[in-house]
Amino acid sequence: MQLYNSLSHKKEDFVPNEAGKVSMYTCGPTVYHFAHIGNLRSYIMEDVLEKYLRFTGLDVKRVMNITDVGHLTSDGDTGDDKMLKGAKREHKTVMEIAKFYTDAFFADCAKLNIKTPDVVVPATTYIDEFIRVISSLMEKGYAYEAGGNIYFDTSKLGKYYVFGDLSEEDLEVGVREGVEEDGNKRNKADFVLWFTKSKFDDQELKWESPWGTGYPGWHIECSCISMKNLGEYLDLHCGGIDNAFPHHTNEIAQSEAYLGHKWCNYWFHVHHLNTTNGKMSKSKGEFLTVSLLEEKGYDPLVYRYFCLLSHYRKSLVFSWENLDNAVTSFGKLIDKIVPLTQDKTGDIDKAEYDRLYGSFNDALGNDLNTSMGITVLYDVLKSKANAATKLALIGEFDKVLGLDLIKKAEAKASASGEETAEEIPAEVRELLEQRREARKARDFGLADELRDKIAALGYEVKETRQGTVITKIQ
Ligand code: AMP
Ligand code: ZN
Repeated sequence: MQLYNSLSHKKEDFVPNEAGKVSMYTCGPTVYHFAHIGNLRSYIMEDVLEKYLRFTGLDVKRVMNITDVGHLTSDGDTGDDKMLKGAKREHKTVMEIAKFYTDAFFADCAKLNIKTPDVVVPATTYIDEFIRVISSLMEKGYAYEAGGNIYFDTSKLGKYYVFGDLSEEDLEVGVREGVEEDGNKRNKADFVLWFTKSKFDDQELKWESPWGTGYPGWHIECSCISMKNLGEYLDLHCGGIDNAFPHHTNEIAQSEAYLGHKWCNYWFHVHHLNTTNGKMSKSKGEFLTVSLLEEKGYDPLVYRYFCLLSHYRKSLVFSWENLDNAVTSFGKLIDKIVPLTQDKTGDIDKAEYDRLYGSFNDALGNDLNTSMGITVLYDVLKSKANAATKLALIGEFDKVLGLDLIKKAEAKASASGEETAEEIPAEVRELLEQRREARKARDFGLADELRDKIAALGYEVKETRQGTVITKIQ
């Protein structure tokens, strides 16, 4: 597969460290509120990437953290700690808030057909591991204590700004709103590994550490959770583009300082979902959730389809009008699959199968070009191949696309089948069934006789490219 790597700023052949296996890490949600559909765009595209890697035969192990403790990076953070703010808003404890929104996140993921990663680790369960790695960074001279907190010393690194081609805009979104200068830092880019004294002192959750009672900074959790579960050499790290700086930059700084060698080979960043007013963000409070889409009558999988129509490295503008267009186009797509589900007989046309499978593989293998993948899906529907071949291809593609295409088409077919069943007399239905059996047995003489009998009862049977169609003769 060719994948754009944010580290090298170009498309590269994706070659895992160990043949046939992929270690994949994903930054998980901060669970103080519902995920908005912007966050979920990132998780949808990462899910497609994981499924495509599996589709090509690779054995993927995917790990994700849950940020359930703090979300702080230095004393420069202003406002409230987000988890505490969530707890206060809902008169609950921080752990209750974390549990509620973690469950809500996975419920949303299920509705969007986003697979749960193989390993999911809440940050609060890894405190000993954070302390161990921070202690090692102290011993190695990469961290210092100032004003009661432990900071990472970015001046000790040869190169800090690893994703150097980020635009000003990317760097700006990476720095969260309202960041003040933290006087304890030796260098502007330094960040907190462990807090013991901070202006956010009313933390509910604190742990003993060699530096006093406190809690970890945000970045250290992803490094530790990844290294502990996926080892010293990571193949692939994913997240939204706002995570590239400072979060991923800091993850690399501390992981490589700790390991003493290169850590992760490929960095996959999903660009933002924007509203017509700019970036959708949790802290702005104005965000759309999966539940809201459902309340408005949208099938969550239409949102997944909407995301797949655009490339993950382009920002995507959400509007109701754009989503309505996706509803129409998704509906038409399913309508085209419905007749195929009615007549699955026949052998697979191997040549046509291989040709179209190859095109789909090329599309997704070219830096995850999902919209091209959907174009290939339309090519399948237009192809001269029989229904069995088309259905087999659609089933395979949907292992990556995750749109429940056949399931939805079958549901639509049985719904319309029930309507038709009421209208068509039992005698005609019986003859139709006999004719279907005759065609299956390739007894076309008998099939024609049965068609004539059906016509005598006032119904016309036609074979179309979409399957058998029966209409009442007026
Ligand atoms: P958070 O819960 O804030 O830690 O974010 C969870 C994930 O969503 C991270 O990978 C973010 O980079 C990503 N993200 C945040 N906002 C957006 C957005 N508007 N569009 C796409 N991804 C986003
Ligand atoms: Zn992370």
